[in-house]
Amino acid sequence: MAQWINGHGSGSDAHGGETLREDLQEFLGGEAPLQQLDDLTKVNPVTLETVLRCLQARYTADTFYTNAGCTLVALNPFKPVPQLYSPELMREYHAASQPQTLKPHIFTVGEQTYRNVRSLIEPVNQSIVVSGESGAGKTWTSRCLMKFYAMVAASPTSWESHKVAERIEQRILNSNPIMEAFGNACTLRNNNSSRFGKFIQLQLNGAQQMTGAAVQTYLLEKTRVACQAPNERNFHIFYQIYKGARAEERVQWRLPEGATFSWLPHPERTLEEDCFEVTREAMLRLGIDAPTQNNIFQALAGLLHLGNTRFADSGNEAQPCPLVDNAQCSVRTSALLLGLPEDHLLETLRIRTIRAGRDQQVFRKPCSQAECDTRRDCLAKLVYARLFDWLVSVINSSICATPDSWTTFIGLLDVYGFESFPNNSLEQLCINYANEKLQQHFVAHYLRAQQEEYAVEGLEWSFVSYQDNQPCLDLIEGSPVSICSLLNEECRLNRPSSAAQLQTRIESALTGRARLGRARLSPDPSFVVLHYAGPVRYRTAGLVEKNKDPVPPELTRLLQQSQDPLLKLLFPADPEEKSQEEPSGQNRAPVLTVVSKFKASLEQLLQVLHGTTPHYIRCIKPNSQAQAQIFHREEVLSQLEACGLVETIHISAAGFPIRVSHQNFLERYKLLRRLRPATAPGPHGPCPDGGHSEWPPCTEPAMLRGLLQDILPALPAPLHCGRTKV
Ligand code: ADP
Ligand code: MG
Repeated sequence: MAQWINGHGSGSDAHGGETLREDLQEFLGGEAPLQQLDDLTKVNPVTLETVLRCLQARYTADTFYTNAGCTLVALNPFKPVPQLYSPELMREYHAASQPQTLKPHIFTVGEQTYRNVRSLIEPVNQSIVVSGESGAGKTWTSRCLMKFYAMVAASPTSWESHKVAERIEQRILNSNPIMEAFGNACTLRNNNSSRFGKFIQLQLNGAQQMTGAAVQTYLLEKTRVACQAPNERNFHIFYQIYKGARAEERVQWRLPEGATFSWLPHPERTLEEDCFEVTREAMLRLGIDAPTQNNIFQALAGLLHLGNTRFADSGNEAQPCPLVDNAQCSVRTSALLLGLPEDHLLETLRIRTIRAGRDQQVFRKPCSQAECDTRRDCLAKLVYARLFDWLVSVINSSICATPDSWTTFIGLLDVYGFESFPNNSLEQLCINYANEKLQQHFVAHYLRAQQEEYAVEGLEWSFVSYQDNQPCLDLIEGSPVSICSLLNEECRLNRPSSAAQLQTRIESALTGRARLGRARLSPDPSFVVLHYAGPVRYRTAGLVEKNKDPVPPELTRLLQQSQDPLLKLLFPADPEEKSQEEPSGQNRAPVLTVVSKFKASLEQLLQVLHGTTPHYIRCIKPNSQAQAQIFHREEVLSQLEACGLVETIHISAAGFPIRVSHQNFLERYKLLRRLRPATAPGPHGPCPDGGHSEWPPCTEPAMLRGLLQDILPALPAPLHCGRTKV
């Protein structure tokens, strides 16, 4: 049901006359100052330029949140604004009879979701989709919302349950430093960039108290462990142990002061995220004891030493690649720290074992220098990704409520926003695919919900057409032929193919498909997808290999033989002692590719989202220098384009931006009863109340509509288009 005034930040309704005057003035073309415009559906006309000007005016006035119809736009202040997130303000939004009439805020969204869970006869799960590009403030927003729920979902009366909520909140909050230490890194765009997507389910019991939470992660950028872009860093945790280890730990982990590691670029840069003690403390609180922690950090030090292992070209295919300079020492230390036999580690990095022929004879083939490097990197990625997943499972077992202790949930989704770089690869394809899915969910859900609401209200309504991104999704994931299916086919066939061949295969199989663009002028073999947020050119080089993400079986077997307790846990021995040499040809097991795994997890996520009432927060980064008070129009513009905000506003504006319950409308506009011109008798007959007005008390939505229709001719613009000119 329409139950709130959408976009009127006019505050209290206590002064009915004033409110009415303001509203009428607005209808009559009175222009509110831009920075006071709490809802972008009210700019006129709705264009990128006008929306941009409004946001800029608000940013300059230190106003960081603005409604955009059904979504909330959050501009990153890039400076502490403690009063904006104070417990007092949380309480104010929580206590407000109509939080929507307060200034736009993430707490409005938080409170709305909380009330939706609480107030409905049939409890409905809620979700908040927080999107935006890297550094826009998604993780910050999610954290603030978690704090908000931890406060409002604690029982005010029962100390016992309050304590439980505190404890749960503390645990949930403690999961943040751990996940950020292991999953975040300093990038060009954000010093604390999350390199994974995250969905947190905050679990509530029948009394709407938080009893637990569950975390699901997506697509950890594990390549970062072995390969960092220029001027970027590895995951924070490596710097934390490198800088924060105690003297005895330095000895144990073989991390002397001043040691250099090729996988630890820019150790001289100190960030506030480098705080090892915070991570240790949080791990301890979540039940990861000191010996286990020690074990984890020792293994990570082992990976750093592994990264210093360098190979030279043997110059002879039959000879294994020799090690470079001090690399033997690095292999030895790495093997020691990972609980592996040194010679076995070295052999696994340098020699490939293949089974071939009818009798599946085992062949041992020395790897090329490049192959050795790939195997070394692969080993590190394998260990790190398993460790990360294990940590998430430990966190979950510590914070997740038992199934019978929660009934509803509020989900917070903090995922990568749409990405378009000069060079885009499989990572961007997956991220943009996820964004297409989320956008489709957004449009479908919002339009459907809105139109159903109008039908219930008895309003005349014609269906709003909108950009359907199904053709784009068909191109990416559809069957029988799509980009994903073609990439998977290449992996399955395991045939050698060049980037140019892959481009040709994609183009010939998908020519004529909507949303496939042209990459004619591209310097490299590539294809273009016309995403809803803009065209993106994907390079075909390396796509198939990334999609395969091959793990030579010898590497897994090596790790399964580790004597290290942590690695034993992460790589349990196979129950059947089946041979794990790399099988050839027909004996190859079906490949579970990166895109197929990602597609499955995305579908699962969308299924969860479909079962919720979604809410959307679009985070915007006002400048890429992370500086307060700077609003770069060009940068904001491209983000507005990327999130399709103008389209969203159009969708919202095509509907009725003023949504108010019948009762509230009567309350707010009761003065209108005196405005009816005597010469124009209304369709409802004389006023039956015998009071001051000849206007009937409007008790039915249909009568209300009649009332509005009578007033409309006297006004210059349709009632539902009362906007401010920009
Ligand atoms: P994202 O998760 O979108 O990549 P973050 O949430 O990590 O971005 O935010 C990047 C940085 O911006 C934060 O480390 C913080 O310094 C700043 N920031 C984000 N949101 C706010 C906010 N609401 N108030 C103050 N600073 C913020
Ligand atoms: Mg983040």
